[in-house]
Amino acid sequence: MPTLSYVHQLFSLEQCQAYIHTLRLKDRSLQCPRCQSRDVDPWGTYHYRPGCKRYWCNGCQRTFNDLTETLLHQSRRSLPHWILATFLLCLSCSARRIARELGVHSRTSYRWCWWLRNTAVSYEMNRQFEGTVEADDLYHIAGNKGQAKQGGKKALGRRARGRRKKCEPGRGHYDKDRPAIIAWVSRQGTVVIQATKDFTVQTVQKAADLAVQAGCRLYTDSASSYRALKGYMHEFVTHTQKEDARGDGHENRAECLFSLLKPYLRVCRGLSKTNLPGYVGFFQCLRNFRQQNAFEQAELILRAALDPPIASQARRGEFVKYLDHFDLLQTAIN
Ligand SMILES: [Zn+2]
Repeated sequence: MPTLSYVHQLFSLEQCQAYIHTLRLKDRSLQCPRCQSRDVDPWGTYHYRPGCKRYWCNGCQRTFNDLTETLLHQSRRSLPHWILATFLLCLSCSARRIARELGVHSRTSYRWCWWLRNTAVSYEMNRQFEGTVEADDLYHIAGNKGQAKQGGKKALGRRARGRRKKCEPGRGHYDKDRPAIIAWVSRQGTVVIQATKDFTVQTVQKAADLAVQAGCRLYTDSASSYRALKGYMHEFVTHTQKEDARGDGHENRAECLFSLLKPYLRVCRGLSKTNLPGYVGFFQCLRNFRQQNAFEQAELILRAALDPPIASQARRGEFVKYLDHFDLLQTAIN
C-alpha cells in the first residue's frame, strides 16, 4: 500500500490475510479449487506474503493457497487494497474515486469495481417475490462510454451529442442509447431492478414472470405494456388524469426507488449502455441488504468473491445481462 496517509498504514497485512482466510473457509470445507478434492495437506507459507497459507492437493498433485482461483487470485495489489475497494464500492463511490483513495490506476479500480459488482449480483439471482408488488419503468441515457477496445476515441456512428447527452422525447430503446429500467418493489421491502433493451409487451411479461410469482397483486401506472400482462391481479393508476393513488393501489414505492437510483447512477458521470445491467444489479443488491451497514455488505461481497466458481463467473460477467425477449425467441426457434 503506498504511503498515502497514516490511516493506510494502520492496516496490517497479516491481519487482513487472517481475515480473508476466515472468510474463505466460512461455511465451506477446505478443498482444492482445481479438482475439488478434499484430500489436501498444509504446505507451508510464503515469505513474501505473511499469513497466506499454502496447501498441497493429493488429487492433482499441485499446490494452492487461500487466494487460488478466487477473484483476488494473482492480484499484485495487497489485500488491504481489495478490502478497502469493496468497502468504498458499498458506499457507492465511483471507480475514479476509489482509484484516487487507494492510489491505484483508474483502469485497475475500474476492473475491480466491475468484478466486485458482478460478484455482488450473484446474491440477487433468482430473487422472486409474492404478495403485493409495485412496478415502474425508467429510461436511462447511456451511450458507449469507454467501449473503444484500444482506448481513446471511437467512431460513434452518429453525430456527437455535444457536451451533454440529450434524448428524444418518448420511450427509450437500447438502440437509441436510452435503455429501459423496470423496478419491481414488494411491499415487504425487497426490490428487483431489471435493465431491458426495450419496453415491449413481451419483454415486460418476461420480466414480470422472472420477478413476481403468478397470481400476485400488481400495481402499476397505465402504460399499455403493463395492461397487457397476464397472470396477475393487476390494478393501475392513471397519471395522465392526475391520479396518484386509488385506495391502496399506488406505485409510490417504485417511484421512490427511482429517486434513489438516479443519484446513485449520477455519481458515475455517464455510463456505458453495455454496463448498465451491472450498475443496476449492484444497486439492487445494496437495496436488498440495506439493513446492514457498508462494512457488512463489503464482507458479504468479499465472501462471494472468495468462492472460486462465483469468482470465475463474475470475471466473465455471466451474472449480469440485459433482459429482453429475443433469447426467448431464440429458444422457441431451437
Ligand atoms: Zn487438486
